[in-house]
Amino acid sequence: MDILYIVVPCYNEEEVLPETSKRLREKMRQLMDAGTISPDSRVLLVNDGSKDRTWEMIRALHKADPLFDGLSLSRNRGHQNALMAGLMTARKYADMVISMDADLQDDIGAVDEMVEKYHEGCDIVYGVRSARDKDTAFKRGTAQSFYKLINAMGGEVVYDHADYRLMSRRALDALAEYGEVNLFLRGIVPMLGYKTGVVTYERGERFAGESKSPLKKMLSFAVEGITSLTTRPLRLILALGILALFVSAVLLVVFVVQAILPHAAENWQLLSGIRALTFLLVFCTGLILTALGVVGEYVGKCYMEVKHRPRYHIAEHLHAGSREFDF
Ligand code: UDP
Ligand code: MG
Repeated sequence: MDILYIVVPCYNEEEVLPETSKRLREKMRQLMDAGTISPDSRVLLVNDGSKDRTWEMIRALHKADPLFDGLSLSRNRGHQNALMAGLMTARKYADMVISMDADLQDDIGAVDEMVEKYHEGCDIVYGVRSARDKDTAFKRGTAQSFYKLINAMGGEVVYDHADYRLMSRRALDALAEYGEVNLFLRGIVPMLGYKTGVVTYERGERFAGESKSPLKKMLSFAVEGITSLTTRPLRLILALGILALFVSAVLLVVFVVQAILPHAAENWQLLSGIRALTFLLVFCTGLILTALGVVGEYVGKCYMEVKHRPRYHIAEHLHAGSREFDF
């Protein structure tokens, strides 16, 4: 029987952990009793440097029930890194790993179908949300433009899929070879290939506590997503520059012709010199600074990648002994 690990990154989740752990335990027991997964399966709760009692709670859960493993990072490293730490730890023990948020927005009921798809031979199963009617119009709109923008820029992301997914050990081993520091998992996973499947689920509201992803974080996540996946924006800048050169050449011709033609003075007046100049100056400065900013974004990324700093440090790992795969 195959071993399933469910990896749950937790940052200040003391309000939801009791309920989440209860539901996860029920689900795991049910799958074990049905003989779908091995009794060695676990839930791995990753503490991402929480400032509340999250880690104490994980400790207590582990002590009371060996079903729960705990992993504590040395400090807060953000959702993607916490998830990566969990996945990389879980792949040492598991045949398949499901990643899930702690706030119960990801419907635990979809786990059965994911495991089923795994048994049908899928290495990656994406959890895709069926509807967004529980979201505010604003969140819906921004999320939609986010996917559209990334795909338009040449990235490949699965529409309405966040980080609720199942991955086989083989897929995780492949993922481990991607050493980038700027981590955008939902962009990298589709690059892995292998047979994939999709499970739709209804995304609920956060069970309790507050969202850890304010607008500012989401914006930087979007920039991260695009710049870590594709260099198309750089090429767009080049295209824009060439276009601007072409337009300015046309303008030059027009101006020269106007100067030669009769009534040149009146024609020139139409442009109303100083206003046109002011506009052009501001416009060009804006264009140049935007272009520089985009280039800078990539240069900054290169800088971080070159340094190749570790993505996280593990402070503690709670795991009641079971076999560990050699690799
Ligand atoms: N999370 C984390 N580290 C962080 C921020 C969030 O591990 O720095 C976890 C959080 O505990 C939750 C998941 O990432 O399990 C998703 O966060 P949240 O629900 O706040 O994001 P949202 O669903 O609002 O996008
Ligand atoms: Mg959430």
